Amino acid sequence: MKPIIAGPCSAESEEQILKIAEFLATKTSVKTMRAGVWKPRTRPGGFEGHGEIALKWLQNAKQTFGLSIAVEVAMPEHVELCLKHDIDTVWIGARTTGNPFAVQKIAESLTGCDLSVMVKNALSPDWSLWLGAIERIEKSGITNIKAIHRGFSTNQNSQFRYPPMWEIPIEIRRRRPNMPMFCDASHIAGKADLVPLIAQKAFDMEMDGLMIELHNEPKVALTDASQQLGFSEFENLITQLIEKNPTYQGAELEKMRALIDDLDEELIANLAKRMKLVDEMGKYKHENQITILQMGRWKKMLENRLKIGQEQNLDQTFMLDFWRLIHAEALRIQNKTM
Ligand code: PEP
Ligand code: MN
Repeated sequence: MKPIIAGPCSAESEEQILKIAEFLATKTSVKTMRAGVWKPRTRPGGFEGHGEIALKWLQNAKQTFGLSIAVEVAMPEHVELCLKHDIDTVWIGARTTGNPFAVQKIAESLTGCDLSVMVKNALSPDWSLWLGAIERIEKSGITNIKAIHRGFSTNQNSQFRYPPMWEIPIEIRRRRPNMPMFCDASHIAGKADLVPLIAQKAFDMEMDGLMIELHNEPKVALTDASQQLGFSEFENLITQLIEKNPTYQGAELEKMRALIDDLDEELIANLAKRMKLVDEMGKYKHENQITILQMGRWKKMLENRLKIGQEQNLDQTFMLDFWRLIHAEALRIQNKTM
């Protein structure tokens, strides 16, 4: 099985860390446990992590259960404390990757260390920001580097918390074919029941491993409660994941399918937005006693859409059918308002 890095979003107590570590060490083949010790919160006032004391809990888990430990760092002081507590891997979180000054400082603090480093993508869908952070870490002399795909912040309505936008990790892979790429299916999914879908897709797309948030009691987790898996959900995930054998020829096809899935999701979100606006327009027309169907507007709209479609090399018959369907649905929605 490809490697999985698993553990809680945040280290909440020594008891929690030991329970999760024991589960991983005795019930799974996971070798690396993750835990957030300093939590970058989007807005102030939430739980911001236990800091140094949590490193001691993790060190204890490492000694007791023989797991390798991974922690997020956002400042040189964090790196120093991780070294002091025998942490094996540090990762740069999405909010830090987007800030080249911060990444540079962390990179400088890593010079001469033999830590392994993971770089998550920045929140913004920009492959160069991600690659730039990787390059800064490389320049510090660190050789054991992984990229972690954790999805992107977009204003698109999506079933996922951070839509995967697979074209971006694909671009990083094209530029850095030898850099291991892991998928943080938990932050992409945002909901525990969507994690297996993303994890399987990552495997189908030849990602090298996974990062999964796992909690002994997800419901009462202090951070990211809705996306963390419980022990039995995690066991189910592992038994259900299918790893294609190395001679599997379909990965290229899976990549194209993943891109199509992203586009369709966007298409559906836009359709929903359009129909919502149509509904508002229906109410406005009703209040102002304007007739719903205005042939002039429909004719003009259709001409314009066909022209744009033609410019994009879309088949005219298909375009005509498509816009007739959209228009019929818009009329149905507006008539419902009357
Ligand atoms: C996390 O891994 O818990 C985390 C905060 O991740 P990200 O930086 O991807 O938001
Ligand atoms: Mn988290």
